[in-house]
Order: sequence, then structure tokens, then C-alpha cells
Amino acid sequence: MICLIMSVSVHNMPISILCWKLERLPTADLLTAITCDINSEKCMLEDDCSGCFDITDILPVNLVTDIAVVWKKWEKSESQYIPVSRQGTLNDLIQEIKKQTPIFKGHVFVKRQQSLHFENKKKNSTALEVVLQVDFAENFSILCQDEIQSAHWSHPQVTIFTGCAWSDAGNAKHSYIIMSNELNHDKYAVWAFMRKIIDDLKQKYPEMKKVSVFSDGCATQFKNRYTLLNLCYSKSDWGVEVDWNFFASSHGKGAVDGIGATAKRQLWSAIMTRRADIVQSYDCYAYLKSKDLSGVNLYFLTSGDIDQHKEALQKRWSEFPAIPLIQKHHKFQAINSNMLLYSETSCNTSNKRLVFGAKLKYADIYSSDESGDSLPPLLSKRDDRPLPGTPGPSVTHENKENTKIQHGAFILVSIRSETRNHKVAYYRYLAICQEPPEEDNEVKVMYMKNISKGNEAKQFVTTPNDVSYVAMSEIIEVLPEPTVNTIGNRIYYEFNENVDVFEAG
Ligand SMILES: [Zn+2]
Repeated sequence: MICLIMSVSVHNMPISILCWKLERLPTADLLTAITCDINSEKCMLEDDCSGCFDITDILPVNLVTDIAVVWKKWEKSESQYIPVSRQGTLNDLIQEIKKQTPIFKGHVFVKRQQSLHFENKKKNSTALEVVLQVDFAENFSILCQDEIQSAHWSHPQVTIFTGCAWSDAGNAKHSYIIMSNELNHDKYAVWAFMRKIIDDLKQKYPEMKKVSVFSDGCATQFKNRYTLLNLCYSKSDWGVEVDWNFFASSHGKGAVDGIGATAKRQLWSAIMTRRADIVQSYDCYAYLKSKDLSGVNLYFLTSGDIDQHKEALQKRWSEFPAIPLIQKHHKFQAINSNMLLYSETSCNTSNKRLVFGAKLKYADIYSSDESGDSLPPLLSKRDDRPLPGTPGPSVTHENKENTKIQHGAFILVSIRSETRNHKVAYYRYLAICQEPPEEDNEVKVMYMKNISKGNEAKQFVTTPNDVSYVAMSEIIEVLPEPTVNTIGNRIYYEFNENVDVFEAG
């Protein structure tokens, strides 16, 4: 009997084997069994260690692998992951584990390293070097007490951005809530909220030189080239040096979660018991302010406060190049106003370097701190000159398509899915590109859902929680721009012709 539980996600890919149980093998931590040193970057990240095993190396030689087994695996259904029972032969399962092992190892390593680094930074925090964790709580919907039963969706909402700062070896702790009627949790909001918190920290610590930020790796909010290359401007924008560290996917919660939850609980109970007249987003702020949440620094920024800097930031940000393989990296720090260092984990010593700005030399664009490192092949796309030993770039069908696949483009995507019986199905979804394609030929997309009546497929809404990366090869076509309509507060997109979607479920 085998019980294999896979969970967690990286880029929305199911990974991580949590428990491995096989009657004929002792219960063992699979990772410890197959890795020579689970603390070694080489074994865990690079996956080419000659001392590490493969799952097949630790199985008994006489193991019968054509027996039927059942296991459980997290699979994506709509926008959620659900545990799905799978069956096949033991060999099928072994192959599945083998395929997922490198991703699993990488995830486990990053998770451990980042959380260790976070604890260490807090322990070593001082008035000069403060540690700050930030996150968005989910927007709070302002329902009137009488409306709570109704399933109406167009309620005013309020954004809740939370922060927790540590100094004095972790003994001094400051909590922050920034509220706003700006509901987009985007790079502009992040910039303004960060500035507010850092300004306040500067009042508390006039000597402060550096802030080490920790957050989850949400791409729209934090882990994008705009917020990260902007670290090169943190001294002029915010008056201090800022570096940014990311937790492994789905491991970015903690103190900040509690701050947001407390605020929401207070608001919810005030509404339920009609203790306060809370109708608009500002009322939420005014109410919490009147409650004097113990020790929380509370601020309200209007969407106007955020918009004020938009134009200047847009101008600056239009010059920012993509950060290659940004999602794989977990620490970003500026060296000067046009150089960013970044690495796979915060403790990693081999940094990659991204130089940007005017008048770049060819070799400056992407290189690594390690000497002798060759330029990544992506340069062949940016520069007409072929790399030594590689054929020059050719204008293929895909290259032509690349030019149309840009931020805001509506695309039809084909997603491969496997059923329990190993039957392969391809679903087709409509999606909006969130950024131009990355250099690894992946595009970040937000999926859309068909809300048309009957058999039509013309009207779609976005599903903001369903963001992931798709490979260029999974894109079937770029669609013409739809018209944008509204029902109440809700926006939907209408196409002239039926879109050839084939959604699961
Ligand atoms: Zn090894």
C-alpha cells in the first residue's frame, strides 16, 4: 500500500512529496534518503551532484513494479488545487516521483533557506538595519448588516496592506496597516505603501540606513521588474537602502497575516453589531483609528495619493528591462543606480548581475559575477549577433508571434491535463497577458472565465486569483481586442465572435 501526498505549489505547479510510505521499505524521508546533503546548494538546487541518488537507486532490486497502486496528488481544478486519487502501476508512480524530485528539492531548499535567513535577519536587526515584512490582506468587502445574506457582489471594498518591522535584535516590533480605496494591488500601490511605512520608520529610527524587506513572491504585487529594479532608486525615493527577499511560494505568511486578520475581525464585528456606520473605505480606517488598535500604526492613502507618482514612475519604469528567470530568484539588492544583484536564495553567494540604463555595452546587459560564465542564450534574441557556436536567430513563426504577445493581449491557451486513467486532455482557456514574454519564453497570464449564456463563448470575466505562467508553445492564438462592458461594478469583456474555449469542469 502506498500513500503519497503531494502538495504546495511553485508557479502553480503541483510539487512536493510530503510523505512516502511503502510497506516493504521503512518509512523514510525521501529527501534524506536520496540527497547526500540537504543543506547543500549543489545537491538541492543544481541537481547535478554525482553523489545524490535517484529514487530508482534506493528501491530494492527485486521490487515488482508492475503492481497496481493508488496515490494522491494535488491537481488543479478550475483555479483551485484538490487532492486527486490516481492509480497506475508502481512504476508509473516511481516515474512521477522521479520527474518531480528536482522541483521538490529546489522548493524545500529555498523554503528552508529563506525562512532561516528571515529569522537571522530579525535576530541581527538594529536601529540602523531594520527588517520589514509586508503583505496584502485580501480586500475587505463592506457589507451592510441587512445585505449580508444577499449574494450581491458589487460592494465597496477596502485594501489592507500590512507590515511588521523589527529592530533591536527582534525585541522592538512595529505593526503597520495601510488602508486605501485603491483596490489594485499593483506596483504603484506597493511603491506608495512602502514609502509610507519607510517614512514612518525613519521617524522612529532617524539613523536607519537599510531596510531588508521580506514578502511572498506574488508577481503582480512584489516580484516584478518594476518593484525590484526600483530598489536601485530606493535611496533617492525613500532615503534608505532597501533589499528585497522572497519566501518560497505559499510560505510568505506570518506576523503580517495576524495584523490583517485582527483589523478585519474588528471591522466585521462593528458592522454586524451596527456599532459604527461603515459604508465607504475611509469609514473602515476611521473606525479602526477610533479603536486605537494596540500599537498598530494605521494610515489611509487615497487612490489619488497613489496616482500622484504614477506618471513619474511610469516614465522611469518604461526603461526597465526584464529580469531573467525572475521567479526562480529570491533575493534582490541594488548595487548602485543601474545595477541589481539577485540570487536564488538570500544566503546564496553566487549572485547574478543585471546592469541597465542608457548606453549599455553588449556584454553588460546580462552577465554573472562568476567569472567564465557564458552569456545566457537569451541574448541571441535581443541582439542580432549570434553567440559563438550557435546558429543565428531565425525569424520563425514563433518569433513573429512574440511581437504580438504583449502586456494586455488576449490569448487562447492550450493546457494539458491528465485524467485519472492517464488519458490526456487539452483544455483551452482565454487569458490576458500580464507582462511581455519572459526571456525563458514564458508569459505570465491571468485566466478568464466564460460567463456567456447557453453555448456561447463571447462574454468573459477575469479571475484575478488565477495567475500563472504559460509557455509560448501553449499559446494557440492572439485574439482581437474585446469591448469592455460593465454590470454594476463588475467588468466583463465581450468578443464579437465565439472564442474557441474548452474549459474544464
Ligand atoms: Zn549531492
